[in-house]
Amino acid sequence: MHQDIERILYDQAAIARVTKKLGAQLTKDYAGKNPLVICVLKGAMLFMADLVRQIDTHLEMDFLDVSSYQGGTKSTGEVKIIKDLDIPLKNRDVLIVEDIIDTGRTLNYLVNLFKYRQAKSVKICTLLDKPETRVLPVHSDYVGYTVPNAFLVGYGLDYEENYRNLPYVGILKSSVYETK
Ligand code: 5GP
Ligand code: MG
Ligand code: MG
Repeated sequence: MHQDIERILYDQAAIARVTKKLGAQLTKDYAGKNPLVICVLKGAMLFMADLVRQIDTHLEMDFLDVSSYQGGTKSTGEVKIIKDLDIPLKNRDVLIVEDIIDTGRTLNYLVNLFKYRQAKSVKICTLLDKPETRVLPVHSDYVGYTVPNAFLVGYGLDYEENYRNLPYVGILKSSVYETK
């Protein structure tokens, strides 16, 4: 285990298990629909890569980069689109893939934006949900694990761009950000 990690919450086997379960559900729910599966960069990239390989239907993928964090461990409340989608959403069944829902600001914004762009349906699949810290309402149709209010890293999730490559999700030692 990495020295900056307090505790592992979900190891590779736990992540694989839940990804397979979500993929099976999505395969059923999107059968015959050709959904547009949207990865929210950068955090969701590893989950997206594993999840789509468990969805056995036609689908298309697109990528969007947004930011609500200006580094650090606290949300600033502002959502900024850094890279927009390439594929038009009009009349598409859209599935947003996220790493974690915290305040809900990012997904609340994206769901409204995608509806404004006339998507036929907008659903969310998140690996992790942190319901305690919600500020704006977000309904996630597919949730991997519900997590406590701690700052998590690994499997795509970063602290100042580090730790995304850890193959597990763990709690970052508070000494890592408190000494800065
Ligand atoms: P929200 O807009 O719901 O507050 O959070 C959106 C983004 O904040 C997430 O997609 C994720 O990138 C980041 N975030 C929220 N909680 C955590 C966390 O515990 N660890 C890390 N590394 N990022 C988080
Ligand atoms: Mg994210
Ligand atoms: Mg981040």
